Amino acid sequence: MALLEVKELSVVYRTPFGIVNALNDVTFNIDRGESLAVVGESGSGKSTLALAVSRLLPPNARYVSGSIMFDGINILRLSSSEIKRIRGTGIFMVFQEPATSLNPVFKVKDQLMEAVRIRYEKEGNAFDESKAINEIMSVLRDVRIPDPELIIERYPHQLSGGQIQRIMIAMGLLMRPKLYIADEPTSALDVTVQAQILKLLRDLKREYGISILFITHDMAVASIIGDSIMVLYAGQLMELGPTKSVIYEPRHPYTQALLSSIPKISKDEGKLPAIGGTVPNLLNPPTGCRFHPRCPYKMDICSKVIPSLVKVDNTYVRCHLYGQ
Ligand code: SF4
Repeated sequence: MALLEVKELSVVYRTPFGIVNALNDVTFNIDRGESLAVVGESGSGKSTLALAVSRLLPPNARYVSGSIMFDGINILRLSSSEIKRIRGTGIFMVFQEPATSLNPVFKVKDQLMEAVRIRYEKEGNAFDESKAINEIMSVLRDVRIPDPELIIERYPHQLSGGQIQRIMIAMGLLMRPKLYIADEPTSALDVTVQAQILKLLRDLKREYGISILFITHDMAVASIIGDSIMVLYAGQLMELGPTKSVIYEPRHPYTQALLSSIPKISKDEGKLPAIGGTVPNLLNPPTGCRFHPRCPYKMDICSKVIPSLVKVDNTYVRCHLYGQ
């Protein structure tokens, strides 16, 4: 049984302008110890997906259909107090903006200590401060924080973005979650720190056996962190498969377009290709295939019939060019 099984998930937002169809019929699994990178432009629904899986959607959002099974439990059926028990020690979320992740008025030590305290409580163990400090030091070393004894005495404003992201990842490790959800955790960091954090997450996945759902708009980042890649467009799953297949044999025209717009330093290709048009307004998404207004392979059927998700070799693709 997969750790996370999301089936036919659809989510909408109620807004003053109407209903926004943010996620439509999204299905995927994440196995234990595996990572899935979710890629898409702004407005593709990837952050909604991360929030939906953690049951952190804002009050104007509504689950329309589908199920989310986490470790054998349908989390859409849990009460708020039951879901709180899963957050942190079951599913841990690292957000995009490091500066807003930690509480500004508490030292790092107090915040990490609180994470250990919560885990002890959930495990039914009495809190032991000296044991907790040893654990914190060991995890801070695992996430390659230099001088952890000094860092834990600091307040968040005294740390860099890269240090805060490492501390957030350490906090997750202290809570021992089964699933890390990371929503663009490196996009606010410079490229060198971004590469270090990605390597760190990959190493931790191997060492701790955690599963990762990693949200990014960057196909290059997805190819580094994901065992599999899922491409979302306008709230629909367009392609899902092992990273090698998606990167080297992309089937869906949108995946192909995303890949061709990555700059290559090995050769001068002149003007970088861009995907024409813009992401559709999800208040009134295109009929049929949501990518049809921008697709160079568009056929008559594309604007009339929603393509089904079909399996092509080891990849799932939603496109009329495949299947029947
Ligand atoms: S279904 Fe049609 S419009 Fe959509 S990606 Fe495939 S070919 Fe393009």
